[in-house]
Amino acid sequence: MAEIVRRSQIAATVLRMISEGEARAKIIATVRPLPSRKVSILRGLDSFAAQDYLARLPLPLFDNSAMDGYAVMASDSPPGARLRVLGEQPAGFDRQLRVAAGEAVRIFTGAPLPQGADAVVMQEDVTRDGDVVVVNVEVTSGEFVRRRGCDLGEGQKIIRAGERVRAVTLGLLASQGLAEIVVGGEVEAAIISTGDELAKPGEKLCAGQIYESNSMLLGALLQRCGAVIASQQHCADDAASLRNAFQAAAKYQVLIVSGGVSVGEYDLVQQTLRDLGAKIGIWRVAIKPGKPFLFGRLGNCLAFGLPGNPVSTFITFLKFVRPAILKLMGAADLGLPTTRATLVIDLANESERVHYIRGKLEHGNFAPVGRQESHALFGLSQSNALLRLPAGVSVGKGAVVDIEIWE
Ligand code: AMP
Ligand code: MG
Repeated sequence: MAEIVRRSQIAATVLRMISEGEARAKIIATVRPLPSRKVSILRGLDSFAAQDYLARLPLPLFDNSAMDGYAVMASDSPPGARLRVLGEQPAGFDRQLRVAAGEAVRIFTGAPLPQGADAVVMQEDVTRDGDVVVVNVEVTSGEFVRRRGCDLGEGQKIIRAGERVRAVTLGLLASQGLAEIVVGGEVEAAIISTGDELAKPGEKLCAGQIYESNSMLLGALLQRCGAVIASQQHCADDAASLRNAFQAAAKYQVLIVSGGVSVGEYDLVQQTLRDLGAKIGIWRVAIKPGKPFLFGRLGNCLAFGLPGNPVSTFITFLKFVRPAILKLMGAADLGLPTTRATLVIDLANESERVHYIRGKLEHGNFAPVGRQESHALFGLSQSNALLRLPAGVSVGKGAVVDIEIWE
């Protein structure tokens, strides 16, 4: 009886192949960003800022010299002028010197500009004669002076909540005197590959076996998103081992299962998740490749079942898992970067599912590459971008289209 009920649960879901957009919206609506955390700024690299950071100090912080040379009054320093060097201003300590007409201060890069001076003459452009310096060039006001706040004004935006912390952002935050940054939470994900036919790379293959490659692909994609691979294991198509593996993984925020989510007798992932009490929210999406995609919740863990064909795994990760991970991490923008490109051939999607065509984006052109089938891992490896072709849509050669870039 229970078996009949379970099968009818699954059969009812079969009838509802939901759209890609609906599936993603449903997943995103389920995800709550993790609590933020304070980390040393270097550890914040590739995380998402959890609050706005505005400049509390201007850059430069004070008027200073861009060169080693002499601080002068420009209007008083025509070519040939002989100026008395009244002192030296190195970087690091403001000696509060003041330049008057007929005077100069020996100055070094980054040193505060003495009062009265409005220009710096490079040391290559003067002749030093005892405590006198002779100006050999035309000097204009403001030359080689870096004015306070000319780069960054007080209160100006450094990074907004939800933006990714980049290497250059870290440099800027450090220039503000910050040693720590508040960023979104860290996502721990478990990867479980399934399939009796799969052998671990490095092991000997038996007849009929192939090497397991999806966990490597998924691990790399997770790292690219900034998530942590908390565990990785392989399971045979066997309910008991799947059950144990799922139970162990449920303590993480994300579980990614590859394979075993379709309708064959060896596809036990959905039923095993249901047996463990998981709530399956999505199964079968109108996307090509990747139709048998599954999403549910196992306790607090977001469980994603990705079809095992490598290209399906890849596409469903990018389209459904990646946005969920980014939202957990506190990102504002959950999509892939896009660009416009010219299509180099005619394309038509006669299927009833949106088709993600793998191709190469080069010099503003997009060309499909390799076999457009879900097992075609080599073709995928030659591509760097995706074209989303909705069901029933044709696009002609020369059309300008939106392309999604993953690299
Ligand atoms: P499944 O989704 O389990 O029905 O698998 C679909 C296809 O993907 C089959 O040809 C599998 O052998 C292949 N496959 C499944 N999982 C993996 C994996 N982890 N690595 C490489 N190929 C896989
Ligand atoms: Mg399988």
